[in-house]
This record gives sequence, C-alpha cells and structure tokens, in this order.
Amino acid sequence: MNPVSEGSGNRKPRVLIVDDSEVESLYLEALLSEEFEPIRARNLIDFWAHMAEEPPDLILMDIMLKEISGFELTQQLKRNSEYEMIPVIFVTSLESADDIERGFEVGGHDYVTKPVMQRELKARMRAALRLKHLEQDLRLRSVTDYLTGAYNRRYFFEAVESNLSYAQRMHRNLCLAMLDIDFFKKVNDEHGHEAGDTVLQHFTQTVRSQIRKYDILARFGGEEFVIQFFDCSIAKSLDLLQRIRASLIEHPCVIAGKRIDYTFSAGLVSIEEAPAENLIEGLVELSDKRLYLAKNSGRNKVVATDSP
Ligand code: GH3
Ligand code: MG
Ligand code: MG
Repeated sequence: MNPVSEGSGNRKPRVLIVDDSEVESLYLEALLSEEFEPIRARNLIDFWAHMAEEPPDLILMDIMLKEISGFELTQQLKRNSEYEMIPVIFVTSLESADDIERGFEVGGHDYVTKPVMQRELKARMRAALRLKHLEQDLRLRSVTDYLTGAYNRRYFFEAVESNLSYAQRMHRNLCLAMLDIDFFKKVNDEHGHEAGDTVLQHFTQTVRSQIRKYDILARFGGEEFVIQFFDCSIAKSLDLLQRIRASLIEHPCVIAGKRIDYTFSAGLVSIEEAPAENLIEGLVELSDKRLYLAKNSGRNKVVATDSP
C-alpha cells in the first residue's frame, strides 16, 4: 500500500547476511559491524522471520544454501512488491560466467566472489544503497504532487483500484471523499498566488494530521483533493472530515502574521454505493456530484447523500 518504505536516516544501514555457514557469516558480520548493522540468517525460517519483522536495507546472499539456492530465494524476494526494492548482492565462491549472469538475471544488484576483498565489498554495498535511495526518491516524486506532497491523481487511481477490490473481497468498508476549497480564487486574488500555494500546503498538512496511516490523501488538481478512508464507515469518515474542519478553525493558516481563514466543501460516498461496473469511476463521479450539492447549498459542509 505504501509506495515508498522509510529511508535509513542517520542510523547504520541494516544488512541481512544470508549464509548457512556459521564461519562465513560471522566473518562477514565482524567485517561490516563498524559501518553497518549486520544481522545473520542461517536458514529459511530465520530469513523470512527477519524479513517480516523489519526488512533490511540490503541483503548479502550466498548461493549454495542447504534448503534453497540463493538464486531462487532472490527470485522469490523480487516477486514480492514489499521487498523488490531491497538490493541483493551475491557473495559466493561460484565464479563461472554462467553463475554471474544468472545472478543478474534473477534480479541481483551485484556479484562478489569469495574470498571477499573488504574494501571492495563495502564500496559495492555503499553504491547499492546510494542507488536504492535514488530510486526511492524518484518513485516518491512520481507518485506525489510537487507543491503539497500529497499523492497525485495517478497514484490515487492505482492504489484505490487495488484497495477497492480487496475491500470488496474481504467485506471491508471503504469511503471516498472529494474535497474542494471554498472561494479559493478569492484567496489568490486577495493575498496573491504564492499565499494561495501556502494555503494548499497548509490544507494538506491539516488533512494529514487528522487522517489515519492507511488513509490516502491525493491532490486531484487545483484546489481539489480526494481522501480514501480505508476500513471506515460513513459515520466515522464524516467524523474525520468534521475534525479536519475543526482543525482548520483551531489552527488557521497564518502568513506573515496575517490569518487566512478558509473552508472546504466535500462529497462523501461509501463502497456500498458503488456500481457493479467501473467501480472507482462510479464512486468518484458520485462523490463529485455530492460535492457540487454541497457547493450549491451554501458550501462549508459535507454531503453524504443525494440530497444536501
Ligand atoms: P468554489 O467555492 O466554487 O470552489 O470557488 P473557487 O474560487 O474555489 O473555485 P474556482 O474553480 O473558481 O477557482 C479555483 C482557483 O484555484 C482558480 C485557480 O487559479 C486556483 N488554483 C488552481 N491551482 C492552483 C495552485 O496550484 N496554486 C494557486 N495559488 N492557485 C491555484
Ligand atoms: Mg474551490
Ligand atoms: Mg475546484
């Protein structure tokens, strides 16, 4: 659900050493511990337990393991969207061109042969992490809106598409709210376009501070936003929207000491109201219709039925 996992920040990068030889993995652990946080997986159960508990930043993978080959294990990892971004460096005594080629084919990032040259291995690990961070950064940019940091329209459709079918399968509730800032043109006209931008950022931060971790906020365009409330009833979604409204009053946008008060209108729908086909388009259309009911009946309100 989350497109980008957390970066390693200032802590040492966690490195999972997958090697069933105690001697080899202890050697690597000692070699790396100054700069990295090495963890060892000696068997498959150990390996998947570490992956589930806290996925590492990088994996050093032996190829000749007792239960499975390192190639096969890497393939399994790369098929899992949660783990596919984690670079795998093969550290192995297999040094034929066929093996090296296979290592890259199965999704390995790099290939180092034993006995390892300390400085070379560490340099390759740093390079792998650098590239991973660049990829994550790029991915984040491709799914978010530049001005506000909210998800973009494309990501919204991608994520909600899969969440909707999951919610239907598992009989979970899901609600969509279409929000539009009221009289936003006036904000621009009275305070300038830059202040308008700041209001959009303020609005995004306010919404984010009220919604839950698995809810999704996306900027649909201009001053129009959409929120997906996951596993959430209409009543609870309404409550969250009212909290956003209360927060805008309590913590208004202040620019150069000047308070800029603004409100929003919203249309809210639940997955139960979805048409049999074109689920997502149908829900978006209905929430849009209700948003306009809210606008036409005085603004600064949420409409959750077909009459205001
Ligand atoms: P309503 O209550 O009916 O929604 O009125 P409104 O003024 O909010 O709506 P309208 O659609 O008339 O105007 C929206 C304005 O939003 C016009 C446009 O210039 C402005 N806008 C769109 N995107 C941005 C942006 O990224 N930054 C700024 N500052 N303004 C933007
Ligand atoms: Mg508006
Ligand atoms: Mg608008």
